[in-house]
Amino acid sequence: MSTLYDRMGITKVINARGPATTLGSSRVHERVRTDIEEMLGLSVEMWELQKKASEAISRLTGAEAGCVVGCSAAGIAIAVAASMTGDDMAHIKELPTVRGGKNKIVIQKGHIIGVGDAPIHQVIRMTGAEVVEIGESIDCATYHLEASLTDEVAAAVYVTYLFGDSFPPNLLSLESFIEICKKKRIPVIVDAAYGTDYKSLISQGADIVIYSGQKWLGGATAGLICGSKDLVYACYLQENGIGRPMKVGKEGIAGVISAIEYHLSANPDHALQVQLKQATKFVERIQAIDGLSAQIGRKPHSPSIQVELRVAADDNLPTAWALNQGLAAGNPVIKVNDYFVQLGVLMFDFSFLDEGDEELIVQRIRYFIKQLGQSEGGKSYSKAQTRLDAMYDTYKKWMN
Ligand SMILES: *Cc1c(COP(=O)(O)O)cnc(C)c1O
Repeated sequence: MSTLYDRMGITKVINARGPATTLGSSRVHERVRTDIEEMLGLSVEMWELQKKASEAISRLTGAEAGCVVGCSAAGIAIAVAASMTGDDMAHIKELPTVRGGKNKIVIQKGHIIGVGDAPIHQVIRMTGAEVVEIGESIDCATYHLEASLTDEVAAAVYVTYLFGDSFPPNLLSLESFIEICKKKRIPVIVDAAYGTDYKSLISQGADIVIYSGQKWLGGATAGLICGSKDLVYACYLQENGIGRPMKVGKEGIAGVISAIEYHLSANPDHALQVQLKQATKFVERIQAIDGLSAQIGRKPHSPSIQVELRVAADDNLPTAWALNQGLAAGNPVIKVNDYFVQLGVLMFDFSFLDEGDEELIVQRIRYFIKQLGQSEGGKSYSKAQTRLDAMYDTYKKWMN
């Protein structure tokens, strides 16, 4: 039987990177796919479907209410908009013109990240809000936050869980961030799009938390907003304004409801055991290659098993950059997490690998190292390039 890869003429991808937007995020479980497929053939009242999603999100997060939007980045923009307009429909339809002077959004400078591939300050500003960055790139103090919370502030944004705990350790903790904002009655919006700890942020007192439907939850592309009923309602109403171009369809909402039910019924240990077995095999095979070393790790808050592969600095070996490039250049395309590539490290995530994929990756690595001995291949990345340059290169492929 031909596959969709064949019929659409697209190259198969082995995703050893995790739920990345550029790779179509997670592979959706068959049970969830079946519900999405059935939903696509139906007519429904969208408010009622959103109401059911709200109940499911409450079960998942313990929040009073929830709603579904186009993606997590949309969730941030929409929550920011809601913090400025409340449920005032006329105001909702006026954005990005903000009424009444309450248009500032406070965020620590160290939390200015790419939400996916767009900078978070751009996502905030598209609502008409003004971004107030506090502190320095790797430091922030309570006095920075306290001084920033003027009457013009509509909300404060906090980012968490991205790549485990690799945020600078001297930024404000969520606990003190919330405590200080609560004293001034400023709502805290938490971007937890990479998170899987669905209950703790709400229980710590966050007013709005945003999760991804398509990353670790394993649904179709969608963003989950959860929090107090008033604020979530104000988020839901943004569909009538700036939320319109970010809206979610019935398939996205059905995917969220179904993925939540699946998540709450599944045994996560089982998936981890399967991944661990595969990762152990992979590590053994990598250790047998001269100059490469590998070890199994598990990031806090990550539901997956990961392997860190280190390439020794050796003229007879490809650099981690070159290896990364070599893996991505074949058929099937093999994509890994290259966040630490400048340090000679490639990260392999085992969430979306089929049985045998780990062996195929090993063979490709061996083949690539052999090839390299005979040519200058793989040295084409200049030292000046960074991960973002390389990402932009993949967009250029569309044009050429
Ligand atoms: C992926 C991610 C986003 C963006 O999520 P989308 O659903 O792709 O819009 C935002 N914030 C963080 C921390 C993320 O990891």
